[in-house]
Amino acid sequence: MRPDNLTRSFDCVIVGGGHGGSQTAAALRQSGFSGSIALIGAEPDLPYDRPSLSKDYLAGTKTFERMHLRPQDFWGTREVELLLGRHVSAVDPTARIVVTDGGEYFSYGQMVWAAGGDPRKLSCSGSDLAGIFYIRSKADCDALIDVLPNARRIVIIGGGYVGLEAAAVFRKIGKEVTLVEALDRVLARVVGEPISRFYENEHRARGVDLRLNSNVASLEGVNGRVSRVVLEAGEAIAADIVVVGIGIIPSVGPLIAAGAKGANGVDVDEFCRTSVPDIYCIGDCARLENGPGIRIESVQNATDQATTAAKAICGEFKAYDATPWFWSNQYDLKMQTVGLNYGFDSVVTRGDPASRRFSVIYLKNGAVLALDCINSPRDYVQGRKLVDSAARIDPAALADTSRQLNEIDFVTS
Ligand SMILES: Cc1cc2nc3c(=O)[nH]c(=O)nc-3n(C[C@H](O)[C@H](O)[C@H](O)COP(=O)(O)OP(=O)(O)OC[C@H]3O[C@@H](n4cnc5c(N)ncnc54)[C@H](O)[C@@H]3O)c2cc1C
Repeated sequence: MRPDNLTRSFDCVIVGGGHGGSQTAAALRQSGFSGSIALIGAEPDLPYDRPSLSKDYLAGTKTFERMHLRPQDFWGTREVELLLGRHVSAVDPTARIVVTDGGEYFSYGQMVWAAGGDPRKLSCSGSDLAGIFYIRSKADCDALIDVLPNARRIVIIGGGYVGLEAAAVFRKIGKEVTLVEALDRVLARVVGEPISRFYENEHRARGVDLRLNSNVASLEGVNGRVSRVVLEAGEAIAADIVVVGIGIIPSVGPLIAAGAKGANGVDVDEFCRTSVPDIYCIGDCARLENGPGIRIESVQNATDQATTAAKAICGEFKAYDATPWFWSNQYDLKMQTVGLNYGFDSVVTRGDPASRRFSVIYLKNGAVLALDCINSPRDYVQGRKLVDSAARIDPAALADTSRQLNEIDFVTS
């Protein structure tokens, strides 16, 4: 694939200008990397805070400038070349070249693939109608914001974090919201039942028409624009627009085509190395071979893996073992999560959900795996130690809110 004239050569090429890609560049410089660095990103914008899209940015309470991950001059002073608005479509690991859609060829010494994911699209009939929106990029969100003034009835498909956060924003600005979820509870893949039921109650109390166990059969439209969402049960829900939040497909096509091992994302070892020499993969599109068996989609995971990869490139091999954390803002509720609850076999509810301040603690074989803390920042901070220690604690003591979590004795697993 090597052309006669390479467009440019870089010691390190980072593909993807999101959370992981931008942190990789910063961490490389912090770790003393003195070679040339290119950050190639498909989006035209400076790296920005993606979670704000379904929160303050959609609500109109945060400007895009306040979402920049680094100030504009950061990139120049760190000598990181930003090659934005360029989509990498092929990788040649033998020639050590990436090719962009625009026909540019960049050679690399080391490469970090941090391309995140594309929103999973609806596939039912009518899914190509106008008026259907996804929220993954600033461009997606801007397109949605443009039509909001003329949309009264919004149907959201998907009861994950993105769908629920969008529902909260839409209710705050007075829209009629119906949320359709295929499973029997919202957030079913990520939280335990007490948290799901709590959020369902909150959304219903604020006027969201929540439909669980509801599969979408088709979308119907008038003059090419969506007007109804038809459920498999037969009901048709009127919609001025439809917002879809049903997960992502990891953006790894060129890397898999280049021979990297993986299926749902690219498989990486504890240093975020792929099976292809000198190519790392991090963030939403990476799956740790010896991890929980899934890709983790969070800012924490992307930024911490970026640091792991950058250090390895600089010769410091420190296995990735960060404690996962996550947050979600809906209405006046701030949820903070620490740890991963996969495989939990029991839960303890600490505090009364009716008070709108409580935590759910997940255990496996009696050891603490993770906490979901609603408006309870102290539990979140103190719970981290329990997660890191895989603490074994009497469940009754965990549930006892008269004692703080850091006052309870525990045995380390
Ligand atoms: C609406 C929304 C809300 C979220 N809320 C939260 C939250 O509250 N808390 C939390 O922890 N996480 C949240 N997340 C998840 C979090 O944003 C992601 O986990 C994080 O952005 C992953 O970082 P990344 O670098 O792996 O991917 P991304 O940030 O997605 O960056 C990938 C970049 O690569 C670019 N790209 C893709 N393919 C190519 C290519 N072939 N060539 C060049 N560039 C390419 C993409 O355009 C994108 O700019 C949210 C995500 C969304 C969409």
